[in-house]
Amino acid sequence: MAEPLNKPAVLPRTLSLLGSTGSIGLSTLDLVSRDPDAYDVVALTANTNVALLAEQARQYHPRVVAIADPAMYQALKEALAGTNISVLAGPQGLVEAASLASDWVMAGIVGSAGLWPTLAAVRRGATVALANKECLVCAGELFTRDVTKSGATLLPVDSEHNAIFQVFDFDHAERVEKIILTASGGPFRTFTRDAMSRVTPAQAVKHPNWSMGAKISVDSATLMNKGLEAIEAYHLFPVGVDQIEVLVHPQSVIHSMVQYVDGSVLAQLGSPDMRTPIAHALAWPDRMVTPVNRLDLGEVGRLDFESPDLGRFPALRLAREALQSGGAAPTILNAANEVAVEGFLQERVAFLEIPTIVEKVLDRMGAMPLRSWDDLEQIDSQARSLATAMLA
Ligand code: NAD
Ligand code: MG
Repeated sequence: MAEPLNKPAVLPRTLSLLGSTGSIGLSTLDLVSRDPDAYDVVALTANTNVALLAEQARQYHPRVVAIADPAMYQALKEALAGTNISVLAGPQGLVEAASLASDWVMAGIVGSAGLWPTLAAVRRGATVALANKECLVCAGELFTRDVTKSGATLLPVDSEHNAIFQVFDFDHAERVEKIILTASGGPFRTFTRDAMSRVTPAQAVKHPNWSMGAKISVDSATLMNKGLEAIEAYHLFPVGVDQIEVLVHPQSVIHSMVQYVDGSVLAQLGSPDMRTPIAHALAWPDRMVTPVNRLDLGEVGRLDFESPDLGRFPALRLAREALQSGGAAPTILNAANEVAVEGFLQERVAFLEIPTIVEKVLDRMGAMPLRSWDDLEQIDSQARSLATAMLA
């Protein structure tokens, strides 16, 4: 159970975007571009996409850009020749970029590659809009301890957690009975296990409601995403493991709910467009106008709900068990999942092998504590090696 991480913040003026070339980064820049005079962009980062990063840099004039792949340094430097934008490279370059003073940071890198840059922003006490759930999943209390220590403000961007943040009564947290994370069910919600055994990466990344990066799309298809989100919710909100429930809601209109002891259930609704939760974090504690399609419930017509099927979607069960076990289990789960998902995207393993690999790695490594950042690095790398050895 975590302390609530909502503290007052000044309105952001200077922004850094970690993962500016991804789905979350592009949605954030879309909002910024509608009122460019209101913001100063300090840093933009990407993994390998030099062309897009350079284009963004020429449009937003950050002080620095950082590219994670050091082999891309020269190309980025050349693309920005004639500007006064500094170019950094490699994982350390990203940490350096995140360490530069700015009011507000979008943590929009995918996977645990986002951990160290996000942590650098946390450690300097920034307001961090957290899209990257993997860093909370893999580092858990180590991460939230640094948030508390530095006085950083963590604002949830994941749509479910942003919804809960909007309706959670932090002053009366003991009056919360449970939080209910909604899940679309992904593209294979109605598939049999047999049908799922044959699905391709192209089918898996085609989410019915949301347009997202490849990794989170596959996670949504296995329901691992909802498991990661249960772990994320545990660290963001002052609730116990047994107070976090998952409910399948195929229309993705209700983004999540909080149930109170008097029987009231409060929900946040909206069109499935990440610009709403990003705008909420960008303007918080105020609100800003967005171009998002307004929800028309008359047109939506009906809202459906069903319980998740843990038999067909074992990834959700594995994540719940990891949350229950605690210690390093979520770290192992996350690392093995990242490797297995990448293996599936490269067509080295079948879709149903993703949770199988994760379960085998968890079994092989057994229960272990997560006491320090050294523990984390060592356990994460061991889980990755074991999972990699299981790829065809
Ligand atoms: P994406 O794949 O579209 O973009 C990922 C970004 O991270 C890119 O800018 C890429 O250059 C960068 N990146 C990738 N690997 C990197 C590495 N090794 N080092 C440094 N940078 C790297 O992903 P996304 O959909 O934007 O998701 C980003 C994060 O936000 C994920 O953690 C995801 O779970 C979370 N999230 C996304 C959505 C969504 O709608 N896209 C919704 C909720 C949460
Ligand atoms: Mg989500």
